Amino acid sequence: MAVIRAAGAGGDARAGSEAGAAAILAAGGLDTSIVEVGAASIALRPATSGWEVIAWAPMAEAVPAGIRGAASEMHDGRLLVGPADHNNALALRTLVPWLRPGLIGSGTSAGTGDRLGLATPGHVRAFRANAGIVPVLAQQSARELARTGRTFRDVLDAATFGVLASGWRDGYGADADHLKTLADVNAAIDAGFTMFTADPIDLVPDLPVDASDTVTAAAFEAVPWPALEDAPVSFEARYPDWLDLDSGPLELPRRALRAAAARFGLAVVHVATLYRHLAAARGRGSFELEVAVDEIAHPTTPVDHVYLATELSRLGVRWTGFAPRFVGRFEKGIDYLGDRGAFGADVVVHTAIARCLGPYKLSVHSGSDKFSIYDAVRAGTRGDVHLKTSGTSYLVALQTIAAVDPELMRRVWRVALEAYTTARASYHVSAALAGAPAPEALSPSGLAGLLDEPSTREILHVTYGAVIRGEQGPGSPATTAQASLGDELRSAIWQHREAYWATLAEHIGRHLRPFADASGRSFKGEP
Ligand SMILES: [Zn+2]
Repeated sequence: MAVIRAAGAGGDARAGSEAGAAAILAAGGLDTSIVEVGAASIALRPATSGWEVIAWAPMAEAVPAGIRGAASEMHDGRLLVGPADHNNALALRTLVPWLRPGLIGSGTSAGTGDRLGLATPGHVRAFRANAGIVPVLAQQSARELARTGRTFRDVLDAATFGVLASGWRDGYGADADHLKTLADVNAAIDAGFTMFTADPIDLVPDLPVDASDTVTAAAFEAVPWPALEDAPVSFEARYPDWLDLDSGPLELPRRALRAAAARFGLAVVHVATLYRHLAAARGRGSFELEVAVDEIAHPTTPVDHVYLATELSRLGVRWTGFAPRFVGRFEKGIDYLGDRGAFGADVVVHTAIARCLGPYKLSVHSGSDKFSIYDAVRAGTRGDVHLKTSGTSYLVALQTIAAVDPELMRRVWRVALEAYTTARASYHVSAALAGAPAPEALSPSGLAGLLDEPSTREILHVTYGAVIRGEQGPGSPATTAQASLGDELRSAIWQHREAYWATLAEHIGRHLRPFADASGRSFKGEP
């Protein structure tokens, strides 16, 4: 596998020739996006409702293969103008090496989800201003796709166009987040993702740490030994009495190990199945696997973590990231709730386990807006960490809407209130509807203020499906009126994209600043 610094990473794509650049600029192309491919130049230009792909080549030369669009003649050459669709995204990724997602490797990385598909240029500005953090610019969970009616293809294609528009040549990752089924994994492979986050928590039985001996023993009886290619006797013999971690010794009491096996045995089988499927489809070493149990009810104990790492490794699973359920509460779009001292200690011990039994890096999910703990995350992980944010960029879009079109924001709020009870069911949020202000009662500044209050932020954060797609819950059909609300939202953001990107760069920048490293860090690159 090639380990490259993506910037200037060869191919024959480079900054445009003079004649090509002149033609592209005359055709309305964005100067930051111009790339020379052979004798031709390609770029993006903003149209009424989104990007268009344009390509120009001198009359005697061919326009790059694969790009489709309407042809015309200009500047002694041929101009092609095509849509920003999947075919043209695919062609661009084939032609331009730095538009292909790559492996993020160790060190600090951050994921920035984009539910509307318009955020990447704002994200790129934040990463430019905060060196040393590898960006994962294409990232969405299977759940977000189901709710927004988007696909993994849509997500990677939107990031591709955003990267080209921004002139970002330092590489980026693509994370198919919270995958629960083989069908999810296949859709992400097909779309070209390079990082896969497996979420096995639906297979984890509810076994609290303080469960009685009888309950724990019964749960241990149910461990699927044949599927784990294991037996109770070899399991018991596998573990030492304690691990010498760099955070100090960690005791491994038999009872806690049996409880861990009871909790996570089926999950290990599932993750191993997904991993082997990925390895067969993509080849070992050409993708990254994160395992996420962050959405479980109980905090992941150090012994649970040791169990997962030991058993996954025994089954040949090579994972690059682990998202435990940390102590305290990680609610969506608001700051950390809990004892920050206990959280810091939790990060230190989980990091020590990951260094001892991996190495792989810790991943902090629901990582947006947790400003009070970033210093502890950086110190505890020594910068070997992935910070995952998703919905906060959608909240910035709503903040932009509230500023430029209060009436549209009022409609968003009305739909959000109607959808909250259903939408909140699968998310960690605690906001109550009681006391939430009625849409009619809000002034323009009151509408903007919805993005400042933790409880109203949470309501807006989890109701994106109803707003974007007009869906009240998984499986229910979109209504025409609400479907048009999503289109209106995208259209308004596109009209005011400069304001959106500026606010987004500032907001995401606040997340990245505590992790920035002026010395920079190279990107692992193409798989
Ligand atoms: Zn998560």
